[in-house]
Amino acid sequence: MKFADLGLSPEVLKAVEETGYESPTPIQEKAIPYVLMGRDVLGTAQTGTGKTASFTLPMIDILASGQAKARMPRSLILEPTRELAAQVADNFENYGKYSKLSMALLIGGMSFSDQDAKLDKGVDVLIATPGRLLDHVERGKVLLNGVKTLVIDEADRMMDMGFIPDVERIVSLLPPLRQTLFFSATMSKEMRKLADMFLLNPKEVAVSLPTSTAATVTQGLLMVQKSEKRPALRKLLQQEKVKNAFIFCNRKKDVDILLGSLTKHGFNAGGLHGDMSQSHRMETLDKFKSGEIKLLVCSDVAARGIDVSSVSHVFNFDVPTHSEDYIHRIGRTGRAGQEGHAYTIVTKSETKYLDGIQKLVGRELPIITLEGMEEVVKEGAAISEREKKPGRGPRRGQRRSDEGASSAKSAQKETAPDEKKQSSRPSKKYEKNAEKGNNDRSSRSHHANDEPDTPVIGLGENIPAFFKIPLRKSAGK
Ligand code: AMP
Repeated sequence: MKFADLGLSPEVLKAVEETGYESPTPIQEKAIPYVLMGRDVLGTAQTGTGKTASFTLPMIDILASGQAKARMPRSLILEPTRELAAQVADNFENYGKYSKLSMALLIGGMSFSDQDAKLDKGVDVLIATPGRLLDHVERGKVLLNGVKTLVIDEADRMMDMGFIPDVERIVSLLPPLRQTLFFSATMSKEMRKLADMFLLNPKEVAVSLPTSTAATVTQGLLMVQKSEKRPALRKLLQQEKVKNAFIFCNRKKDVDILLGSLTKHGFNAGGLHGDMSQSHRMETLDKFKSGEIKLLVCSDVAARGIDVSSVSHVFNFDVPTHSEDYIHRIGRTGRAGQEGHAYTIVTKSETKYLDGIQKLVGRELPIITLEGMEEVVKEGAAISEREKKPGRGPRRGQRRSDEGASSAKSAQKETAPDEKKQSSRPSKKYEKNAEKGNNDRSSRSHHANDEPDTPVIGLGENIPAFFKIPLRKSAGK
């Protein structure tokens, strides 16, 4: 199918042609005609599938007729993070360059007065994170009763971050007669219930998750001891042909620690997490996009949906505790049919998360070996020896076992500063799971325990068969 067959205007088609896209992605093919018809859409799609254009392109045409009134946006797009919101704004600018649409972005870290000035002039498209939007609503700076098109993007992430009460409140301020587009990477019972509240007779469109990760991305697991994590990552970085890479940590604190370590060892790296100022985050991201920084050490929230084309590698320094995060992380590489590589460093205490991940991707992930594993083991042993000696523990501010210990509290996800307000009231279920240290939303029982790391061989009956492969023996020479 061609873009021209979807019913989009010549202006939008021209802009799309200039981006160089040859044909619509499956989600675009499935969603665009229905959005243009004015139907509500319930979309299951993750970032990396072309989901953003599946709603921005038809919205540009829908909004082409009509005029914006002061403080009364005509359409509203809710995003869970600032970066995603900024990216959607980029999309509108890019695809809307031949259409005369006005747009405002309401996200934390930007001055209220600039945002107010834009709203005062009247905007066709308002892109916002829920907390910041409610701030403006409460200050009487924006009225939502003129919104005719609503997009709730990354709804599953909104739920994880405890934003749903805010989203409900926002939706209650919108006119009931409107078009609603609802996107989520997964479609659980909870998501469906939520969608039922917001959508009217929606057209369901879905692109499947497993095929969208597996096709062009080489994936692998590297089994190590806790103390070997950093040396193992360095070896991997040296051995792989890394053009540029995302390196994911589960916690903000570990982003800083790992970044410091990589920089000390001469790697060209930058960091991204929710505690950094907005300008610092944008600056780092721009440097990564332009190639000035090659390695981006980041947390899930900060990296969510960041669109950098042609990323050669993704490294999971920590195994993600939410299975879906694995999909999101891996989705950074192998975009648009390009080759990608995704390697996950796994310690024994993290094996409990592999089961859910492998179920989600629909296959067992292969265990990879590392040349020079002996050196890694030696370095790891030296690190744990140093940490054992009294008075020679980690530096101030560094956790003793900064490379894998997982308390229920620290397993909770980080949030960007402007998102803290909402995340202080997470959903009950999420709280319960976090308490149990069980962040896998499927609530299955886990088999691994949190004892200190020991070699993986002979761990017992509860360990899946694939994990019983002798660890050291397979280390390549
Ligand atoms: P998204 O899922 O919206 O984050 O998009 C992922 C990436 O796919 C972005 O880099 C888009 O620019 C790109 N993209 C979107 N639509 C297409 C298309 N039809 N053909 C090729 N790339 C696309």
